[in-house]
Amino acid sequence: MHGLMQDWPLNCHRILDHAATYHGEREVVSRLVEGGIDRTTYRALRERALKVSQRLQGEGIRRGDRVATLAWNTARHLEVWYGILGIGAVCHTVNPRLFAEQLVYIVNHAEDRILFTDISFVPLVEKLKDSMPSLKKVIVLTDAAHLPEAEIELIAYEDWLAEADGDFAWESFDENCAAGMCYTSGTTGVPKGVVYSHRSNVLHALVANQPDMLGLSSRDRVMPVVPMFHANCWSICYGAPMAGAAMVMPGPKMDGASIYELLDSERVTVTAAVPTVWMMLLAYLEETGARLPHLQRVVIGGSACPRAMIETFQREYEVEVIHAWGMTETSPLGTLCTLKPEYAGLTGEERLNIQEKQGHPPFTVEMKIADDMDAPLPWDGKTFGRLKVRGPAVARAYFKGEGGALLDEEGFFDTGDVAHIDRYGYMQITDRSKDVIKSGGEWISSIELENVAVGHPAVAEAAVIGVADEKWGERPLLVVVAKAGAALTKEELLDFMAGKVAKWAVPDDVAFVDEIPHTATGKIQKTALRERFRDRSAANA
Ligand code: AMP
Repeated sequence: MHGLMQDWPLNCHRILDHAATYHGEREVVSRLVEGGIDRTTYRALRERALKVSQRLQGEGIRRGDRVATLAWNTARHLEVWYGILGIGAVCHTVNPRLFAEQLVYIVNHAEDRILFTDISFVPLVEKLKDSMPSLKKVIVLTDAAHLPEAEIELIAYEDWLAEADGDFAWESFDENCAAGMCYTSGTTGVPKGVVYSHRSNVLHALVANQPDMLGLSSRDRVMPVVPMFHANCWSICYGAPMAGAAMVMPGPKMDGASIYELLDSERVTVTAAVPTVWMMLLAYLEETGARLPHLQRVVIGGSACPRAMIETFQREYEVEVIHAWGMTETSPLGTLCTLKPEYAGLTGEERLNIQEKQGHPPFTVEMKIADDMDAPLPWDGKTFGRLKVRGPAVARAYFKGEGGALLDEEGFFDTGDVAHIDRYGYMQITDRSKDVIKSGGEWISSIELENVAVGHPAVAEAAVIGVADEKWGERPLLVVVAKAGAALTKEELLDFMAGKVAKWAVPDDVAFVDEIPHTATGKIQKTALRERFRDRSAANA
């Protein structure tokens, strides 16, 4: 016997219909790439998104065709995103920070037909266009007056859009149709395409909006600093309109001063980004003495959030930190660290001990930890193993079958992370499986050492890699960027770490560097560091 409820496919564009109908006046504020601030509403944004759909259909774009965006977070990008989805085409967000060869590879692999981009990326597109034969048109998200001169044919978005009369309706189709695509950052091997469906995106946003997750409401003003091209914008481009929350889009400027300016002038209540962004903001606040009176919650993920960062936000600025873990393959939110009743009463250091964890999963995300033989490990908060996940917004395959079968016998996806889980279901990442340092039969967590090191007041950023060691197999090397003007010695730093981590985990050596390399998604690029310190490794082996 079947239920007798209506067939109402979970199509992503219904979210924008809802926002325009019930939260029509709510603002979407953008820092324009051309300069200045733009203000629009969900109602107006939907009208323009419909015109995007109408024009795309006029260009011959059909269901399943891939349309790329290479753009900053702005209202224009958002209306293009929904306009692509609304006719069943697939919105492929491309990360402009990728190396040129990777960018060309993924546009060709996805066979993108049209590219929407910002004026900032015109020189890049101009250089690469000839190597991307599937691209028929390049539409620049600006008006004719700001359209740059170029060797390739460029179309001014506003002119292109003006050709639509807007007398158009979204299409309705099977909720399992593809909606979006995002390639993994490809720190190992070639980038692989993760393909989200309408259903997975809607479910993921519904789940992400729950009170124990991002907890968005129509009273919130949300600023996704996390780019729209990074893992589905952590659900915010769906979740905010679904909740009727106002959006503040930071455009191309992500330095401390620019982010602070919008947080303050736009009275942002919730924001989200990787730790690097918050490092810049906190440095700016410390320098200027500025405060954050409006901000209530900051979501920090993408890499481990240092304890010192959680403490500073909460103690100095009274902003609650929500540490989050996820991956492109998990849509991306997998766990968030909000406090269940078992932990809600904790204060001080004990509270920070929990907040350093990546948190607990919502309904729809199932987790397990397993050893190398795939045997399940206990949830005791210390035994760590491979973290695996399963759920309706977790990838089961990559585009065009790259990488082969992804799931184990029980349908779980191996995240490549190493983690432990405690008895209340709080997960803590101890490492990427390939970054774990295996020293004399013990596993040393590089993330734990990094977090302790950045707790030293003179340390700006820290990374730990394993270097070969004759006796132990591998030993941790601590690579450090000291704060400007700070005089910090190796001995002082290692003394500071002793007693905070197991004795055998304290690094033997510290390398001071001017800069730590990052990947296109803001993670520490350990492959580059290993390469840089290869000689040291070879000398020890
Ligand atoms: P990406 O698909 O580029 O978002 O990368 C996903 C990977 O980032 C995960 O598998 C983790 O290794 C790492 N990651 C994401 N969030 C966190 C976090 N809060 N703490 C530690 N690692 C994280």
